[in-house]
Amino acid sequence: MRAIFLGPPGSGKGTQAKLLAERMGVPAISTGDMLREAVRLETPLGLRAKAIMEAGELVPDDVVIGLIRERISRPDARGGFLLDGFPRTLPQVAALDRLLAGNGESLDAVINLLVPEATLVERMVGRAAIEGRSDDRPETVRERLRVYSEKTAPLIDHYGGRGIRIDVDGSGSIEEVSARIDRAAAMRAGGRS
Ligand code: AMP
Repeated sequence: MRAIFLGPPGSGKGTQAKLLAERMGVPAISTGDMLREAVRLETPLGLRAKAIMEAGELVPDDVVIGLIRERISRPDARGGFLLDGFPRTLPQVAALDRLLAGNGESLDAVINLLVPEATLVERMVGRAAIEGRSDDRPETVRERLRVYSEKTAPLIDHYGGRGIRIDVDGSGSIEEVSARIDRAAAMRAGGRS
């Protein structure tokens, strides 16, 4: 299974991608986690990405495309993977398609998490308190939501047009959302959606 989790910041993509990846025995790949690790280690990439991430803006496409190219070519991703936070722009969509096509592969599904904006803000503010993520400050949260609407939301229609998008209600508890994802994935596997 090669799938993407799509949804605004705070929609639970990361949590749900990790849970589904565990159940399916494939890696969950998060460009946000990879970038945060680079920032923590103060690598040249991390030093470049830090200010961009703290401002709630997107790291340049070529940078994240390079990270994904390297990551999905590793042996543990041969049998499939779940992407969380990539692609986020239409050029990233095209790059991913090219990377997969180069190996004779394509995407199986795009799981689109739907969550009302008020819930997103609440979750991110809560996460800032628990995890201390520096981009979960209120001003940055607003900017990340704006960047999402401008750059990432167009991907919803794009993948809908390709017939691989599965919309899942992302409100409620982690367990409720995870059960909905399982049902949607089972329906898709059974060819009934
Ligand atoms: P996330 O953990 O997915 O919310 O990502 C945290 C931050 O990392 C984002 O706000 C961006 O600054 C950066 N980032 C993560 N993934 C991407 C991507 N695919 N394209 C550009 N920037 C990204």
